[in-house]
Amino acid sequence: MTGIAGRIVDMHVHTTDSPDAEIEAAELAARAVSAGLRGLGFVAHLDFHPADFCTGAFSASGYDDSFGQACSRAPGAMLLKGVEIGEPHLFMDRAEEAMAGRRYDFVTGALHWIGDRLLLDASGFDGSNPEDLVERYIQESVVIAETSRIDILAHFGIWRRGLARSGSPAEIDEAVLWPGLLGRLFEAMIDRGIALELNTAGLRRREAVTYPTPAVLSTYRRLGGRLVTLGSDTHGEPHVFFGLSRGAEVLAAAGFDRAFFFREGEPVPYPLG
Ligand SMILES: [Zn+2]
Ligand SMILES: [Zn+2]
Repeated sequence: MTGIAGRIVDMHVHTTDSPDAEIEAAELAARAVSAGLRGLGFVAHLDFHPADFCTGAFSASGYDDSFGQACSRAPGAMLLKGVEIGEPHLFMDRAEEAMAGRRYDFVTGALHWIGDRLLLDASGFDGSNPEDLVERYIQESVVIAETSRIDILAHFGIWRRGLARSGSPAEIDEAVLWPGLLGRLFEAMIDRGIALELNTAGLRRREAVTYPTPAVLSTYRRLGGRLVTLGSDTHGEPHVFFGLSRGAEVLAAAGFDRAFFFREGEPVPYPLG
């Protein structure tokens, strides 16, 4: 990572505090300093869906310890502590119970499951009409935006990962098919101060596109959305901080000249240009 990385706060990186990630927080903090990032927003998976791989793994005290170690290892770095709550419209109370009594800078909400279907996997689309599932994904995202106490909506459109893995030729553009639903989603987010994350992990996958897509990002902006974060969804090698520069370009092309990080629950802007 060179050049443009110096302007960016990567607001979505996983460490060994998530069971599906490989790099310790202290190591990642050191890597962020050498990459010249402006800052790093850690997230730990906080899941309760009975079939999720990460369910039951969150340790608030363990996360405290590794965050402390990261701060010691990279004393000058801006390090922020967050969580990624899966299906917050279903599990918000339990998540808050798990977080009680501790300080977090931000709460990210993520939709991975529609009922018993994991939309990140090909199996999530088995024997179903993809358009029906995607419509449900957006409908449930609306419920999250209207009801959940989150600061950031993560990787909106990550169902593309499962659809691409399933080998389906379906081309689905939410901005064309469901403008009304997207309108409801973004109105609720804008109204409640929830940021839209631009997640660059899809750029390294078969679908080769950000979550959300540039078309959806433009819809958000047209409706008045200004609160955006940028995140790589780093889980390990060889994709540490992958796609951030491209992500910043996607934001700029959609008309955003700044992105945000969250510190102690408050959005703070920083310039992208
Ligand atoms: Zn996620
Ligand atoms: Zn994540």
